Amino acid sequence: MRISEIYKRKKTVVSFEVFPPKKTDAPDQSVYETFERICALSPDFVSVTCGAGGTGAGGNKTIELSALIKSKYGVEPMAHLTCIAAKKSDIKSAANEMKARGIENVLALRGDIPDGFDKDAPRDYTYAKELIADINREGFCTAGAAYPEGHIDCIDDEENIEYLKQKQDAGAAFFTTQLCFSNEHFYRFLDLAAKRGIKSPISAGIMPMMGRSQIERMIFMCGASLPSKMIKLLNKYGENADDLLKAGLEYSKEQIDGLLSYGASGIHIYTMNRPQVAEFLAEGLL
Ligand code: FAD
Repeated sequence: MRISEIYKRKKTVVSFEVFPPKKTDAPDQSVYETFERICALSPDFVSVTCGAGGTGAGGNKTIELSALIKSKYGVEPMAHLTCIAAKKSDIKSAANEMKARGIENVLALRGDIPDGFDKDAPRDYTYAKELIADINREGFCTAGAAYPEGHIDCIDDEENIEYLKQKQDAGAAFFTTQLCFSNEHFYRFLDLAAKRGIKSPISAGIMPMMGRSQIERMIFMCGASLPSKMIKLLNKYGENADDLLKAGLEYSKEQIDGLLSYGASGIHIYTMNRPQVAEFLAEGLL
């Protein structure tokens, strides 16, 4: 099913993000138990990441896991696909493979610039909007990434919204945001987007804090700001992983409640492949 149809039907769309098993050899049974537990919650869709660092066009693992989520667990998948290091022919092959495996929904991304990338060399794709247009033409229901606090390389708020509008114009039927720990930023972003004529629904990306190093890595990688409440929680519970996860989940739950009251079209939970995260945060939503 095209995910855009789900947004038309439901007031709030609830989705999870997972990543494919890292091992190159056959993954063990526990990996599949993870996906089984996550899918058993019957989310509206599950999105499957592709290799970080812009290393290529999706990759078989993303497509394989997306196909499995659909065929074995009966949940609608969305495959992530990056383009910065891809040729048009790579994207065409990925599109053909996804069609053959019954995948209808794609999150079309530029991907991060790989180390040593030659910015002056000729390339087929520069921005995600070009991939969004190509994937849309291939007949997929196409989504784009959105940034409540701006992309790490984009300082200007107006430019941030303008690029979002370009993605919508290129065919993005809905958006999923980068993690954001501050609902005030979410609300401001949703208002700015609406004012600029963004009509495609926007799902808010929620990631619970699971450790001090995870948070430090995230804020430097993506430029998300840390509200003082989170800093205090990190100071209080930072030494105890279980207590911190519990406090992080409670914090995320409050964020979700606020977003629902504000009328967000969707909640997208970064599960980090931890079923207990999905189970706790989805309680009462699905
Ligand atoms: P773009 O929209 O092309 O933006 C890239 C940069 O160019 C930004 O700084 C933007 O402000 C700027 N820009 C955009 N349009 C223009 C324009 N017309 N003129 C000038 N500048 C412009 N990465 C992965 O490798 N694998 C994944 O699975 C993955 N999943 C993600 C899921 C979500 C929900 C999100 C939010 C991000 C994900 N990413 C993933 C990370 C993403 O690939 C990076 O954030 C990447 O750096 C930007 O991708 P984009 O699609 O937003 O690119």
